[in-house]
Amino acid sequence: MVIIALDEGGSVGFVERSQAERRDRRRDAPPPRRPVVDVTAGVAIAIVLVFVAPAALRLVTPGVVLVPGSAAPAAGTVDPTPQLGPEYPPLPADSRYPSRVLPPVRTAATGDHAYIGTRPDGSPIAFDPCRPVHFVINQDEVPDAGGQLVRAAMAEISAATGLAFVDDGATSERISEDREPVQPVRYGERWAPVLVDWVDDAEITAPGEELFGVTFPHVIAPTGTASARYVTGSVGLNRAWFAHALGDPAEAAVARGVLLHELGHLVGLDHVKDPAQVMHATSDTVGLADGDRAGLAAVGAGACHADT
Ligand SMILES: [Zn+2]
Repeated sequence: MVIIALDEGGSVGFVERSQAERRDRRRDAPPPRRPVVDVTAGVAIAIVLVFVAPAALRLVTPGVVLVPGSAAPAAGTVDPTPQLGPEYPPLPADSRYPSRVLPPVRTAATGDHAYIGTRPDGSPIAFDPCRPVHFVINQDEVPDAGGQLVRAAMAEISAATGLAFVDDGATSERISEDREPVQPVRYGERWAPVLVDWVDDAEITAPGEELFGVTFPHVIAPTGTASARYVTGSVGLNRAWFAHALGDPAEAAVARGVLLHELGHLVGLDHVKDPAQVMHATSDTVGLADGDRAGLAAVGAGACHADT
């Protein structure tokens, strides 16, 4: 369940920083119910995302990608950019605003899907489809075939959402729950790219848990909840489990499913009750089903923004 509360406190506001959620997956045992609460506070507006989510989940996977690294499309016509706070980087040079980078995905698929958060008009909070979603991968001790798996899953999510993902290569950054969304020294004056990192059990699990991954989409709402959007995020993948799974043909498909599940969270999908969907918290689905596709197409059809 996701509750988004908006508290307007004044003038021109801006909000900030919200790490939307912690996602994970547990093998075997059914996940316990554990509240995960993320609070975003801002000067004038506060967005509070409260997730009462299973602590452990379950995921699944496949992929198609598309945008090669450092594509630099010509900028489209850009509306006057509202003056936001200094913590907001300028509109990226590769924004295609007001045009999408890739066409929207048309699908007749229906089925169980849910969003992490919605805006007042009921539309899902989503990435801006008029700019590429950049990502980097920490290659430190990456499992064999791990990088290939990530890129393939990114491609599949791209194809299902119509969001363009751009591979910015390797990084030495490590995942953290208080990650700065803009890191000028490391990434320049832009939203930091989505970080995919390989992590050890102890870094993402509580005692007694075995989690396969965690995902934190980062939401901002510069002018209130109607302007909410994701601008970056982090995905942490259990290094030891993926290394094991990718070395076992029977488990490799599950690993792919786990990655698709995490990337589903990254772009705005929440868990569903239908065990046939990859976004189910604990089932062993290994590929996108109709509900997943309906949800992914919807989060890929979000609004374009001229201000970030
Ligand atoms: Zn999940």
